[in-house]
Amino acid sequence: MIYNDNDTIIAPATPTGGALCVIRLSGERAIELCDEVFEGRKRLAESKTATAHYGLIKDEGQVVDDVVVTLYRAPHSYTGENSVEISAHGSRYVVGRILSLLLSRGARLAEAGEFTRRAFLAGRMDLSQAEAVADVIAADSRASHAVASTQMRGAYSEELAALRSKLLHITSLLELELDFSEEDVEFADRQELAQLLDVVRDRVESLQSSFRLGNVLKEGVTVAIAGRPNVGKSTLLNRLVGEDRAMVSDIAGTTRDTVEAVANIDGVMFRFVDTAGLHSTDDVLEQMGIERTAQALKKARIVLWITDNANFEEEDIMREFGDFRPSDEQAIYRVVNKIDLFGSGDCATSVRDLNMPMSATDIGRGAIRVSAKTGEGVEALVEVLKLAVDASAAYAGDVIVSNQRHYEALTQAREALDASLSAMREGLPSDLLSEEIRQVLYHLGSITGEISSEDILQNIFSKFCIGK
Ligand code: GDP
Repeated sequence: MIYNDNDTIIAPATPTGGALCVIRLSGERAIELCDEVFEGRKRLAESKTATAHYGLIKDEGQVVDDVVVTLYRAPHSYTGENSVEISAHGSRYVVGRILSLLLSRGARLAEAGEFTRRAFLAGRMDLSQAEAVADVIAADSRASHAVASTQMRGAYSEELAALRSKLLHITSLLELELDFSEEDVEFADRQELAQLLDVVRDRVESLQSSFRLGNVLKEGVTVAIAGRPNVGKSTLLNRLVGEDRAMVSDIAGTTRDTVEAVANIDGVMFRFVDTAGLHSTDDVLEQMGIERTAQALKKARIVLWITDNANFEEEDIMREFGDFRPSDEQAIYRVVNKIDLFGSGDCATSVRDLNMPMSATDIGRGAIRVSAKTGEGVEALVEVLKLAVDASAAYAGDVIVSNQRHYEALTQAREALDASLSAMREGLPSDLLSEEIRQVLYHLGSITGEISSEDILQNIFSKFCIGK
């Protein structure tokens, strides 16, 4: 796509069909073009920035709609350009008429993400903030919103800027040495530099490791509900999400496919996947379901292994696992269901009574006892789930990385930092050392967009929708 950043662009910023629809116009001629079709008390060209104007949109003297136009003058706008936002009635017809009126006067339909792209190019926000705009819009829980909002408001950018400035300080000292290379001087005390690099490395590492939480908060925590047919998996899923999402029946193997349902628990999105059992079967459809179960188990952060028999032994569960071997990142909880039938026995009354999380090897120990049918014990199960994810850092405004692109850049920055540190230890000459540190700067700069290419921008903004 060839962009012409001088064009005046237009797009609806909200879907049509609501009571109102906002149409956005941005570019040098935005105010002038709007004045050609808008009739208010005062011409927009003569109005101040950040003002709202009631009036009519007219097409050859005929009223199209009553609207409110909000006017922003460059550089005090989202894009940094002259901009107007027209709040019209949300009819598809009205919005279409206003768009075509302005298009016929020389505006161009905006590309996906072009408003935010312009905001980035005008220096109104850096790339990580621009990406966070999309995340804020997509946020579906308190936790995912907190992560995106901290990033959008610039906390992450500031943090990266601070790290970059530390590194720039080091490189400038090293490069100064190059100017005096004949004299063999060392301006930069190597030990101090190593300490500084260590500090940067630690911080990069902790940002990198925050991705584990960030990704979970952004995408939701996947919980696989697994176990033999008929143990009550679908019933439990319905109980957990509070609606009839999964199919429940007495016929073993009813849940042939995986069924997914989401629930917001204390501000964190949980994605429950009801899986088919892992039992052996000749039924082709069921075999497909089992294959999908294996996939779901692999991807899940938490696995609830359901049995309907309190005496179920560890070996039985291990046999049920089939080829599945949980990773260190996964937590497996054993849930004994149907306690209304055989009594709760030594039913754990609080989370603290349980040994959690369990690894595959000690799966036979504690168990959460529930009745999916009556709801008994389900509250304790929810408490267990809550403990699996601690979103308090996100609520406290800590910087948490949630973007895969950033995570990869941080990983590369960390590798480059390790290389710089070993170059320093080996006493490599300052030009080589400085080259290594420039690599770190490059990767950190790619997150905020100090270093960017048309390809990267295209890749990021094309995923936005039109009007953003
Ligand atoms: P799935 O195959 O594991 O998904 O099992 P279902 O959720 O379809 O349940 C199988 C049967 O067990 C159904 O008749 C449910 O009503 C019943 N069931 C599920 N949970 C309980 C429970 O806690 N107590 C009792 N008594 N029956 C249950």
